[in-house]
Amino acid sequence: MYQFLNTMNTHRNIARIPIIMAAATMLLAACRKEETSGPSGNAVLTEQDKTDLLFMLEEEKLARDTYTALEALWSSTQFVNIKSSEQTHMDRIADLLNTYDVPYVILPEGEFANATLQALFDQFMVDGSQSELHALRIGATIEDLDIVDLQERMDATTTTSVDRVYGKLQCGSRNHLRSFVDAINSAGGSYAPQYLEQDAYDTILAGDHESCG
Ligand code: ZN
Ligand code: ZN
Repeated sequence: MYQFLNTMNTHRNIARIPIIMAAATMLLAACRKEETSGPSGNAVLTEQDKTDLLFMLEEEKLARDTYTALEALWSSTQFVNIKSSEQTHMDRIADLLNTYDVPYVILPEGEFANATLQALFDQFMVDGSQSELHALRIGATIEDLDIVDLQERMDATTTTSVDRVYGKLQCGSRNHLRSFVDAINSAGGSYAPQYLEQDAYDTILAGDHESCG
């Protein structure tokens, strides 16, 4: 699948070479450092890329902060293990933002600039305190949402380095989803996808643990 997506991107990028070349030439004099230090073949990010990366940084933070809070309430090992993976996901996006000189702010734990993410976090704190099964379902819900949001942004971007990072994060999210759903099933509960299409969800759940690089 990644091979296929990468091929698609390469194809799209070929069509953009004249534009990239012109942009690179114009930027070279004024911005030699960025031109030479940017990821291969991509001198600049689009405004859409920047908006999407800033949003995904906060969505990964939603995962990290939620699991940090739920870890304090419940003993399921998923929360502590996956929390550290979400920190890595945040770091990967922050690395891209730093590379492209895009300013960003990471608010304190439990605080979000995006109102939708703030409302989700606040609701998760209410629901997640009810029972361990509720808390595990919140984990599955976050991963379900994350996979869909990452896919939308992978479909939208033509920037190879951004697409590659989204792909790695999405791979991690599939592992996290399987892990939460396994724990839900072991606890005698069930989970129905809220964001993913049923077919896509079934395919992910039928898959094995992936190595995401
Ligand atoms: Zn993540
Ligand atoms: Zn995750």
